[in-house]
Amino acid sequence: MKKRWTIEEIKQFVETQSDSKLLSTEYHGFSQKLELQCECGNTFEKTFTKFKNKNQRKCDVCQPAKESR
Ligand SMILES: [Zn+2]
Repeated sequence: MKKRWTIEEIKQFVETQSDSKLLSTEYHGFSQKLELQCECGNTFEKTFTKFKNKNQRKCDVCQPAKESR
């Protein structure tokens, strides 16, 4: 069974798994961009898929996009 995330679960995930905060109050699906606030104060948008699976859990300033590692 595929897990369906609710906004509450996402909020909890964001707060426990990162230093960012979730600003969005609604979740409509994996392709939706969530509004997040980084620990530095910047707000940024990221899909939950990227946030969760690709470890993109900070703003572009704190965590610049990398092609390789
Ligand atoms: Zn930041």
